[in-house]
Amino acid sequence: MKKVDVVKKILYANEKYALENVLFFAEHKKLCLNMISSPGSGKTTILARTISDLKERIKIGVIEGDIQTDIDAERISRTKAPVVQINTDGACHLSAAQVSAAIRELPVKELDLVVIENVGNLVCPSDFDLGENAKIVVLSVAEGDDKPIKYPGIFAKSKAMLINKIDLLEGGLVDFDIERAKTDARRLNKDMEIFTVSAKTGEGMNDWYAWLTESFKNV
Ligand code: MG
Ligand code: ZN
Repeated sequence: MKKVDVVKKILYANEKYALENVLFFAEHKKLCLNMISSPGSGKTTILARTISDLKERIKIGVIEGDIQTDIDAERISRTKAPVVQINTDGACHLSAAQVSAAIRELPVKELDLVVIENVGNLVCPSDFDLGENAKIVVLSVAEGDDKPIKYPGIFAKSKAMLINKIDLLEGGLVDFDIERAKTDARRLNKDMEIFTVSAKTGEGMNDWYAWLTESFKNV
């Protein structure tokens, strides 16, 4: 029983900071996305390509969450986008308090959008709101198409899903049933936007960009 109380307290403390972040983004009239996936789905590659391809249209700032290292932040900074690294020192998700500190390090006034790349983990990041306008879940075809039914929480809560690495489907290198993943995800979340992309080749990225630059503004 005690354990349950501790979890409740942690989530309550997180909610307080999440609300502060919501107010911060609203005050500054900026949008914020929280990107969540398993490790290795290609979040950083999607982000780096998106920043480069959209640099004439929207200014994106990034908060990179990692357990260790600043390898991903390094990759983002090569795009010239402003980036702040949070090392969670072992923790498997970002907290709203960490994001609250990080957004004060970003030149928010110059940005249109702040993207948070969460720690690679499909489970608890879905329980910790960071004050974002929307969660985005990324799934790659190198993973199982049963991820939506195995980890329903994050798929139910995300506004959009990117199915990445579709270039691997050619030649039957991987068995991933895109229709199954889509159907299962929409069963959990009927309004979910779904984009099938390859951040490596650029295939399908234009639909994602269109949503990001237009529809997302109304979220
Ligand atoms: Mg990454
Ligand atoms: Zn965690």
